[in-house]
Amino acid sequence: MRWALVLFEVRHCAGALCFLPVQQCTGPLIPPHQDLVPVPELPEVETTCRGIAPPLLGHQVEKIAVQQSRLRWPVSPLLARVLPGQTLAKVERRAKYLLLTFDAGTLIAHLGMSGSLRVVPAGTPVMPHDHVDILFSHHRVLRLTDPRRFGGFVWTEQQPLQHRLLKDLGPEPLSDAFGADWLFSHVSRRKRTIKSFLMDSHLLVGVGNIYANEALFLAGIRPDRSCETLTLAACQALVAAVKTVLSKAIAAGGTSLKNFVNSEGEPGWFAIELAVYGRAGQPCTRCGEAVRDVRLHSRSTFFCPNCQC
Ligand SMILES: [Zn+2]
Repeated sequence: MRWALVLFEVRHCAGALCFLPVQQCTGPLIPPHQDLVPVPELPEVETTCRGIAPPLLGHQVEKIAVQQSRLRWPVSPLLARVLPGQTLAKVERRAKYLLLTFDAGTLIAHLGMSGSLRVVPAGTPVMPHDHVDILFSHHRVLRLTDPRRFGGFVWTEQQPLQHRLLKDLGPEPLSDAFGADWLFSHVSRRKRTIKSFLMDSHLLVGVGNIYANEALFLAGIRPDRSCETLTLAACQALVAAVKTVLSKAIAAGGTSLKNFVNSEGEPGWFAIELAVYGRAGQPCTRCGEAVRDVRLHSRSTFFCPNCQC
């Protein structure tokens, strides 16, 4: 009975063990069906980067207001002391992290599972899931909203790419560093599945579950295929597929940029056309065979048994 209770209660909180009733727990919430919740992936973070930079670059921070400090990482009280007076010099993305570089250091931001960063006019009412406001001197606010509180900020005065969160990450999928030769040399002699390889951020960043499914379908490779069986030609197809799928999503995101600079509505995730993800039992868009779904490494995995081998 006690163990049943523990197992049930642990599910709602990201803490190691949480015995509080769900209503009293202030830990980050774990969604009941993680795979079905659209989480910000590389294209959403890239679009956020492009959306928040123009209205804020070159402007000075006036103050920071923290409504809820218990996020993925506790919001450091240091921020309220160091940020005011500093000018935002650069906004970049590395993997799913946003790097906001100021005069004296860099604010590393992560959107977690449900976070969004938007620029709103000063005085915009704070809603229940709005946790951190950074007020700039031109009366614009960078606002972190995050119902599940897996997002957060970390301040660093060191080289941000050397920070412990970033230093061991794999190459960017849209950069030249991710090419067929690179992939071929890294899959050789690896026995793990190619889908888990794609989703391992120490090997390659920014390819989440949906995009891994879609890229493997486009390349004609089964998600559960062992890495070591991939030929150079298969690696070429897969690299091209990953770049195509992510680029399309970023292009779709461009149309929603306005959502990052007003207070209306949600910065909705991109309505890209999914060829295979979430289509279990439906006819394959290429051959008509029913799309199959399996759990692979506890993640929803979809493929066409005819088009992918
Ligand atoms: Zn098919």
